[in-house]
Amino acid sequence: MTKTLFNLPSNVIFCKECVMSNQRPSSIPEFLHTADRKNASYLNIEDGVCDACKQNKIKQKINWAKREKELLKLLDKHRSNNNNYDCIVPGSGGKDSVFASHILKYKYGMNPLTVTWPPILYTEYGYKNYLNWIDKGGFDNIMYRPNSNIQKILTRLSILNLMHPFQTFILGQKNLAPKIANKFGIKLVFFGENEAEYGNPIADNTKSIRKKSFYSASNLNNLYLAGIKVSDLIKKYKISMKDLMIFLPINEEEIKTKNMQIHYLGYYLKWIPQEAYYYAVENTNFKARPFRTEGTYSKYNSIDDKIDDLHYYTTYIKFGLGRASYDASQEIRNQHITREEGIRLVKKFDGEFPNRYFEEVLDYLDIEKEEFFKKLDKFRSKHLWEKKNNKWILKNKIF
Ligand SMILES: [Zn+2]
Repeated sequence: MTKTLFNLPSNVIFCKECVMSNQRPSSIPEFLHTADRKNASYLNIEDGVCDACKQNKIKQKINWAKREKELLKLLDKHRSNNNNYDCIVPGSGGKDSVFASHILKYKYGMNPLTVTWPPILYTEYGYKNYLNWIDKGGFDNIMYRPNSNIQKILTRLSILNLMHPFQTFILGQKNLAPKIANKFGIKLVFFGENEAEYGNPIADNTKSIRKKSFYSASNLNNLYLAGIKVSDLIKKYKISMKDLMIFLPINEEEIKTKNMQIHYLGYYLKWIPQEAYYYAVENTNFKARPFRTEGTYSKYNSIDDKIDDLHYYTTYIKFGLGRASYDASQEIRNQHITREEGIRLVKKFDGEFPNRYFEEVLDYLDIEKEEFFKKLDKFRSKHLWEKKNNKWILKNKIF
């Protein structure tokens, strides 16, 4: 058996319904990431079909009218009768946060406070969409910018240690909303889409996701940031715990004692990314980027952060799955394209290098090009890649 990096399954298996493989990571809390990924779990494929596709079939049979009633019950329980905010919707201005906040406020009469953990490097399109979301949508918003010197150090280290450029952004997105909710005495937090759709285990698909390991923690010193134990980050990199707090999750006790609820709106409402896009276009003048995103065929998914394109390139190197694989799988499940079309798109776009913002991103991170590519090659697992005539070849392809 070939030894794999990050504990990846040594046998590559593709789902026979979408274009995902069993190399796609699932359900590892970001702040437990270590280079060896001892705690990692990967997309489960049984009888040829992945959990995300199975989940999608369950979704087709959901009685959405009944789910909406459950939602109304939850909202009524939390609805403010003293003009305070009654829920929090985090987002940076993408189509999903627009959809969630807008429908909660204007269809269901809630009084949401929107909170934004900004992208590491906002694209001009992402920033315009953010302003349109808040201004045209009519929301109160808190943008919470972390200490950018610390964010830079952490992002740099998470590339060098984990080849994971997006870690601080993901952490901020997840960890900020419960903290702000806590400060404002708000008991209900809505994230948008249910992550089970993208392949996290079905067992996690509960309506309330007060999962300890995901949104809160009891001992911060034992967590990992940028692949380094927090206590070591403090010692070796001279970063104080004060400066790290904003990246770390809320204390578990705070969530419990205040009875805070964190829910996915996608559990209650049928969530189709393409429709969330149309909704955002109509209601807050959301705009796709005028060009195709490198590495895929789409123009409106995750276009806020200049680092995002590089992030998906690293998933191609680490797991053999580029951005087109992610986009196509989702669209196959929603029956916008066939699997054959999906495979053609993967063949055409997966692994395309994200040139557009690359130099700017490396400049920002103080990483030399040569150093980056040298490092990148260290994250190619032998069971996925081989070098032929001085060229890296991906061994297992869907096409
Ligand atoms: Zn599948």
